[in-house]
Formats: sequence, structure tokens, C-alpha cells
Amino acid sequence: MLAAMSAETSVEEHRKQIANRLGEPDRLQFPSGWTMSSSWQRAQAAPSAVGPVNPAEFDVLLSYVDEDSLSKHRVLFALYEGELVAECECDGYRFRGWCAHVALLWWKWSRDNLAVTDLDASRVHTSPPWWLSVDDVERDRVDVEPDQPVAADGGVER
Ligand SMILES: [Zn+2]
Repeated sequence: MLAAMSAETSVEEHRKQIANRLGEPDRLQFPSGWTMSSSWQRAQAAPSAVGPVNPAEFDVLLSYVDEDSLSKHRVLFALYEGELVAECECDGYRFRGWCAHVALLWWKWSRDNLAVTDLDASRVHTSPPWWLSVDDVERDRVDVEPDQPVAADGGVER
């Protein structure tokens, strides 16, 4: 999926906004056993829709597995200072640092199905870049097809 690339000034603005905040944004950390978490199951099974709001944030609409109604949450999900930062406004994230909305974004991203902005480089990655190391991901990473291309570089990056 290719999201429309925003102007670089907009990326820079969002990077500044994050840099000027009180407190660092949360670096995404996967809880132990996250691939067994209900958030992860729900992210894959429930009806959902994701749309970028700006270079740093997405609106995530997600239902429960047995329901039709979608609830909307705004989620920060971006690369900042070489790390993946994520924040969701929902209670699950506030209390556990992990929720189905963040899980959904990771799920899409790890399948080349989300354009995540590197706020420092003003470039977009449609899958997690090789240099990104996220706790527990390697250990628990769900099997991906081994013959996947290493990076989606079909002109997405400028
Ligand atoms: Zn959430």
C-alpha cells in the first residue's frame, strides 16, 4: 500500500511536536507472549480499517471479533530517533502499554501493508526496516515467508 506522501515540512513539524513534548514518546515494547495476547488475536481477526491522519498518527477503527461496530482510536506510530514509537489513547494501552490498535498497526506493517514515516529522515517504510530492533519481536515473531523481498523499495523512499 502506498500512502500519499505528505510534504516534508509536515513531517518536520510532527517531529518537532514530538521533540517538544514533555516526556519522551513511548518506545514500542512487546509484552512477553504478545503473539498469544487477545489484542494480537483481535487485531488479526476483527473487522478493521486504518487511515493515516498525518505523518505520525493513524486513525484505527477496530471492532471486536463478534461485533460489527467499529470504535475509533488515534494512534501514534512512527519512527523517531531510530526507534519505533507508539501511543494509543485507549485504556488498554494506558495500563498495559499494549493494545489491539497498536497490534493492528504492527500486524499491517510487518506484512508490507502500512506506510510508517521515519520522522528524522522524512521517508516512509512500508515494512519494518532492517535496522529496527524491537524487544521480543525476533524471539516471538510470527513466521513470515522466507522468500519475501528484504525491503519494499519500489520507489516509496525518496
Ligand atoms: Zn489502543
